[in-house]
Formats: sequence, C-alpha cells, structure tokens
Amino acid sequence: MVSPVTKIDQIETVILDIPTIRGHVLSMATMRVQAAVLVRVRFSDGSEGIGEGTTIGGLSYGPESPESIRSAIDTYIAPAVTGRDADDVNGAIQLMDKLVKGNRIARAAVEIALWDGLAKRLGVPVSQLFGGAVHDRLPVAWTLASGNSDTDIAEALEMIETRRHNIFKLKIGKRAVAEDVAHVARIKRAVGDAASVRVDVNTAWSLQDARWGLKGLQDAGCELVEQPVPARQRRAMAELAQGYEIAVMADESLNGPEDALEVASARAADVFAVKVAQSGGLKRASEVIAIGQSSGLGLYAGTMLETGLGTAAALHLFATVETLRWGTELFGPLLLTADILAEPIVYRDFCVEIPQGPGIGATLDPDKIDFYRRDGGRTVKAVAGE
Ligand SMILES: [Mg+2]
Repeated sequence: MVSPVTKIDQIETVILDIPTIRGHVLSMATMRVQAAVLVRVRFSDGSEGIGEGTTIGGLSYGPESPESIRSAIDTYIAPAVTGRDADDVNGAIQLMDKLVKGNRIARAAVEIALWDGLAKRLGVPVSQLFGGAVHDRLPVAWTLASGNSDTDIAEALEMIETRRHNIFKLKIGKRAVAEDVAHVARIKRAVGDAASVRVDVNTAWSLQDARWGLKGLQDAGCELVEQPVPARQRRAMAELAQGYEIAVMADESLNGPEDALEVASARAADVFAVKVAQSGGLKRASEVIAIGQSSGLGLYAGTMLETGLGTAAALHLFATVETLRWGTELFGPLLLTADILAEPIVYRDFCVEIPQGPGIGATLDPDKIDFYRRDGGRTVKAVAGE
C-alpha cells in the first residue's frame, strides 16, 4: 500500500514582544524589547513544525519589520504553500523564491518550520538533513552594548569569571570615532588577553571615518570590525579589508548567496557573518557558507537576536560547518528576560551546546507564548528609537 502524502495543512503566525535584560544600544536604535515572529506549521498527519523570523530594531536595521514578516507570511506565503507535499521542502523554497521577492526573513521563518517538521517526521535532528553535525558545541560571543564603558567592563569581567563568554562584540558607531576607539581600547585593556574584542559599527561610518577608526581599533588590539560602512559600499569595504590588518566582516552587505558571491569576488570582506534570517533560510545560508568557504574567507555565525527557537535552528546548520574560524554570536535567548523554550539552550564553558533533535530540538513553553503574544491584550513598546 502506498502511504498517503503528508500535506501542509495550516500556517499560523504570532508576534511575541519579549523585554530585553537591559537596553541594547545599536548605532541606529536602542532595543528594550525584542519582537519575534513565531511560525507554526501544522501537517495533515498531525505533525507540526516551528520556525521564527526576527529582525533587530523595528525597521531601523533592515527592510523587514516584525509586522511585515507576519503579513508577508499570512498574506502571500501561507496561501501559496498550504496543500503542498510537506516533505518537499526544496519545492516550497523554490516556490517562495518565485512568488515572494525580498522578504528573506519571512521566507526563512516558514522554511525553518518545514525543515523542523520534516526532521521530526523522520525522527532525526535538522543537522542530519544538512549532512550531520560535526560539532556538539560552538564558541559563543556576547555583545557589550549598554552604552556605558564602565557597565560594559563590569559585564565583560563577570562573563569571563563565570566562563560564559570570552569573545566580546562591542556595538559602536553612535558616538564620534575617536570616542568609540577610546571606549574599545578601555575595554580591551580591562579584559587583556583573557578575551577577544571585536566591534560592530552597523554601517554608521563613512569611508573617511572608517580609515581613522580601523587604524585606531587595530592599535587598541581589536581583532575584527563588522560592517563599518553602508551595505552597498562594496568598494569601500574592499579598500578597508585590504588596507588594514584588522579583519573586516560583512554583515548588512550579505543578503543571500548572490550577495555572498559579489562580496567574495570583490574581496570586500575577510569574514562573512552568516545569518540564517538574512540569507533567506537554512538552505540559502548553507549556500552563503559554501561561497565563503570556497573563497577562503573566515566564517562567523551571526544572529538577529532570535529567541531560543531561531537560535536552535541556526545551531543545527552551523553544527555541520567544518570550520567557523570566528565562532558564533548565537546568544539571543540570553539577552531576553524570558526563554520561550520548555528546555532552554545550554550555555557553558564559553560555548553554546547544539540542542538535540528531533527537528531543531526546541519545544515551546505554551504559557510563555500566551504571556508574550502581542495580541494577548498586553501592550509593550516595541522599539525605543533614539
Ligand atoms: Mg552586525
């Protein structure tokens, strides 16, 4: 007897507003709450898959907002993929690519739920669908972004002491370049050789600012600078990558495999910050990784500050990558005041552990979902822009 094909029955979305443990000061916005779009796909055999689509700082970071992610899924993606063969994830990815331009985070959220469902039905972790995990834990950075040097130093020293993190990324770009460089130098002096210090400028500098900035940062012992200039300024990125010893990492410049190929060809970065959401899903992120690897670039697993759900999905992909020279920043759940997973992801000994499957190895805590859902009657201000 031929077993009936399992179909995609229903796709639900919900926005969760979860307060952060402190203000998270970026060059373009200060986050006090993270808004995550949760996707739940129900299949005809009763199985279920979950996914997440999350961005940073409302619309200040990129072209998708939590509201646009939800509306793209509800209005365009869900009607297109409902009724399709649930196991044909590649077919769904191709259809989403054809019917929905841009909106990579929305597509990624649905794609993750489809991989999660497929892996659960097969009884394997999602990493198995990408050839199998070669790591059971990965180094994990912490972002110092309180906006105050003394607070950042205290936070860094505590993280080293408790063996939670020894890689720190500093969010800069909001103040004058000289002030930012002095802030980074102070923190590097305070942590010394016990930690790696890196910065993320989030596109805030002009090329002229960046020349001074990179010179000062490398003299201060900072190892890496992330996206110093705007995303589309590839020639400026190339000049900086080639002109200084400090590693230059592309983040906002990388939206999927096509960008990855162009950045690699232009030598417009030394390192790729690979983000599942920004790449358009796990499969497209794996293609970005392949381009980075084959171009001899360093790799780093980036985050959109997802909850444990999106973080678990990313961990399953990055666990399959041979060499992540620069580690990961998959610390999203630690920045939030609540964990929406029944079993939180484990962080210890400067590493994050890959959750065990099946699927992405994440089970939601229904009480937390009810409590933090935006349409649950509570009101939380999403972004305090500055
Ligand atoms: Mg970044």
